[in-house]
Amino acid sequence: MPERPDLEYVVPILRGELVRCVLGAPRVRKPVVLRAMAGELTGEVRSVERRGHTVVFGLGTMEMIVSPMLAGRFQLVPVGTKDSADLALAWPLTPRSGDQPRELRYRDDVQMGKVYLTKPGVLPPGLPTVGVDVLSLAFTVPVLAAVCKSRREQVKIVLMDKSALDAMGNAYADEVLWHAGIHPKIPASKLTAEQVRALHGAIVEVLTHARDEIARRAPPLDEKLRDFLHVRGREGPCDRCGTGLRTLGVRGHDAYYCPKCQSEGGKVGIVDWNRLPGSIK
Ligand SMILES: [Zn+2]
Repeated sequence: MPERPDLEYVVPILRGELVRCVLGAPRVRKPVVLRAMAGELTGEVRSVERRGHTVVFGLGTMEMIVSPMLAGRFQLVPVGTKDSADLALAWPLTPRSGDQPRELRYRDDVQMGKVYLTKPGVLPPGLPTVGVDVLSLAFTVPVLAAVCKSRREQVKIVLMDKSALDAMGNAYADEVLWHAGIHPKIPASKLTAEQVRALHGAIVEVLTHARDEIARRAPPLDEKLRDFLHVRGREGPCDRCGTGLRTLGVRGHDAYYCPKCQSEGGKVGIVDWNRLPGSIK
């Protein structure tokens, strides 16, 4: 999915390009993404903000919320550009003076994303409230410790819970856990104080680095830049210790990890997941 670092790059660009433009009625290619009448998704763009893992377009008295989920992406193209096979919606833009006529496109090749229209302050059903901003001063070690203490789920699941932490999805959760040297299946409530400190440091470091790296390399709007990640999608040896990376399932999500750097064995007391043959795909 587009994760926080991706959206932190995309949203300021959309804001700069779209504020004061008027979205016309969209062409609909994949109606399954719609959670509103297409004809109502129009109006002058007053603001564009990231809210958790969604992009919120302020349209006067209403807000259009796009939740890109697994594969949604935006594109700004000249009018007349050939439609891609994954095109879901395309809004004609009434340009500001001097701008070329363009379209805002929302593409989604798995059609899991959703587009809502709602009043400001009203959360559409199915969208979580947004948890603590992990790149703000409010995100301290005690705050993370309190979140972990209250949760019995595996730590990877807690990291991906947007209602707890305004932070990350699957790919960055793997990266953070690798940096912190924590196995993805350890229950969050069983983490030691030392592990919580390591986790806090890794969250801040990994997300800050990703944000800065994507900004520095400035990819096209619809490209997801991930080649700097150490574990996600990789089969090769661990960059830290040389051991072969592995995958396993964590509550319906796949997780990439290093069995050596992230082996917690007896340290947290309950189960050495690496010794359970059924736990490794
Ligand atoms: Zn390793």
